[in-house]
Amino acid sequence: MSEAFFNQLIWIWIIVAVLTMILLLFVTAPYGRHTKTNWGPMISNRMGWLIMELPALLIPFIIFLTGEGSSRRLIWILFLPFLIHYINRVLIFPFRLRTKGKKMPVLIVLMAILFNSVNGYFLGYYWGYLSSGYTIEWLTSPQFVTGLIIFCVGIGFNIRSDNMLIWLRKTSSNGYKIPYGGLFRYISCPNHFSEILEWTGYAIMVWNMPALSFAVWTFANLVPRALDHHKWYKSHFEDYPKERKAVFPGIL
Ligand code: NDP
Repeated sequence: MSEAFFNQLIWIWIIVAVLTMILLLFVTAPYGRHTKTNWGPMISNRMGWLIMELPALLIPFIIFLTGEGSSRRLIWILFLPFLIHYINRVLIFPFRLRTKGKKMPVLIVLMAILFNSVNGYFLGYYWGYLSSGYTIEWLTSPQFVTGLIIFCVGIGFNIRSDNMLIWLRKTSSNGYKIPYGGLFRYISCPNHFSEILEWTGYAIMVWNMPALSFAVWTFANLVPRALDHHKWYKSHFEDYPKERKAVFPGIL
């Protein structure tokens, strides 16, 4: 596939992300605290996470390995942050969740598989087949270093915030508590905020179309989810901190 055609496909995919975000501002995605039983068959929460996130790791990795990009150490370095994130998200995160007995709609799993497969295909194809233009100097450019720092801050806060939420159920069952500390001082959903930061940083550090599209999709998925969570917290806890924003400290 030519790079021009590839980029056209990505632009279409970015438009789909924008439309999806508009939809998600009106329809709450029914998983986690927003789970609904009227969205068709249900699957165990842990199994759902594992199945829906697996393509996000496997598809890009396999496609990458079939391309000539995989024979260059530089491209491995540029691809690595994505792989590190998804090794955690697929092979560690689902097994740490404390959601015993909880379920999510199979439809959500299928939609996430579609999202992860298309994004994964674009990224894997790019790194495998269209990445010949990168040179080793890129690794010392201010843009790469800036993006890498943002990515590292993002992944650090993402794992920390996910951990803090998981630890809230250390002593109790499936209920919800008000999270305190860390970035929760400023926003209801630091895990979502930091995931957006992560992929924005990645898009800056590698500066290509599939990484940009992935950042846009993450924003499109997670801003509406964080707004839904924030609204949910305020309606379920009378003593919910008033000054806390939903997803962007001091802004939204
Ligand atoms: P949530 O914050 O909804 O939940 C994370 C885990 O913590 C769940 O097990 C949840 O339980 C539990 N939890 C959350 N809040 C509380 C609380 N107040 N008290 C007790 N337990 C709590 O995160 P998401 O499920 O939306 O996302 C999980 C991760 O996946 C995040 O890091 C997110 O950024 C990432 N993600 C990335 C996407 C992308 O497009 N790149 C898309 C979706 C998620 P329960 O499930 O029972 O609510």
